[in-house]
Amino acid sequence: MRPSIMERFDGLADRFLADIEPLKDSGSLVVGIYCTYAPVELVRAAGAVPVGLCGKKQAPIPAAERTLPANLCPLIKSSYGYAVTDTCPYFAAADLLVGETTCDGKKKMYEHLGKIKPLHLMHLPATGGEAQDAYWLGEVRRFKTFLESATGRAITDEALGAEIRLQNEVRRLLSLVLSTSRGPCVPLSGLDMLRVTEAKSFSADPHAYAATLRELSAELEALSAAGTSCVSADARRILLTGCPVGRGSEKLLRLIEESGAVVVAAENCSGVKSFDGLVEEAGDPLAAIARRYLRIPCSVMTPNAGRLELLDRLTQEMRPHGVVDLTWHCCHTYNVESPIVAAHMLEKHGLPTLHIETDYADADVEQLRTRVEAFLEIL
Ligand code: SF4
Ligand code: SF4
Repeated sequence: MRPSIMERFDGLADRFLADIEPLKDSGSLVVGIYCTYAPVELVRAAGAVPVGLCGKKQAPIPAAERTLPANLCPLIKSSYGYAVTDTCPYFAAADLLVGETTCDGKKKMYEHLGKIKPLHLMHLPATGGEAQDAYWLGEVRRFKTFLESATGRAITDEALGAEIRLQNEVRRLLSLVLSTSRGPCVPLSGLDMLRVTEAKSFSADPHAYAATLRELSAELEALSAAGTSCVSADARRILLTGCPVGRGSEKLLRLIEESGAVVVAAENCSGVKSFDGLVEEAGDPLAAIARRYLRIPCSVMTPNAGRLELLDRLTQEMRPHGVVDLTWHCCHTYNVESPIVAAHMLEKHGLPTLHIETDYADADVEQLRTRVEAFLEIL
């Protein structure tokens, strides 16, 4: 039985546009974000509303390919395609955009995107360390100045502190929801967990989102304790890792679960990476924000030991039987990192990894199904 409260998460993205209308009418700006490195606490402390604009559907890609090369990651092409065709209501609602210098394709795409809407680019170092932390803190300060000038509102330490506490609470609650799937009974499918985490980017009111997460975790705990509503008690447990997925680009996740397995955790930016790690609540709030965000273990970091540490933790907590590593076509950073992940998971945890490289189109679905089914058979 699907938790009854999931219906509320299903509709959140649609309600977002109605929810932000009165906010926009009263002068609040909407800031479009494309990446987990964007510090939402600053956006909200400036009285603006953040919205996730990462493209997850195939439809706008042909339009993007009139400008961008075809051999580019579908996420980048889809994001730009939505902008250039003006077919995404969330992009239309955004007054400003923020991007970060992550992978080469994405950071160069922002040069095109900046011609459509005002875009602030944060320069992200490719590793953490004393010098890089100081540099990134400078970038976080520059973003603060940009937001203050755009919104005409000073970002006070008090407002920032309140937003840090609120976002930390959301992160703790998402971790709590995830933890209900640790036991043999998994009460929430990977597809539903994706809906829950994705809703974070489309919640105009994080307080209301946090309240819904509290209700969800209570319902999941009850379902899990009753043991009657497991997604499937004897399903193979899969740890999904790699590139982000979302509504429209969830074909691999869907295939895994249609094949009888369950994704117990998604180590990606649409999953655990988006809520793992809290911002310290004491001390200088800007420095605390800079530290937390620079520790996100995206494959654009080199070396990227943080990803292996996160995989270790998730393996201990969620006890997967196997790993599926998703790389979008032409995502060089995740693709190059893939053998490192596979070797680590085998040597340290004895877990096999299935590496899948694909795009947003459905042409290879049946081929992928065969590969996923064959992989599940060996687990
Ligand atoms: S995978 Fe990397 S570039 Fe993509 S959203 Fe996550 S942090 Fe950003
Ligand atoms: S999936 Fe890879 S290529 Fe695409 S935006 Fe993310 S890091 Fe860049």
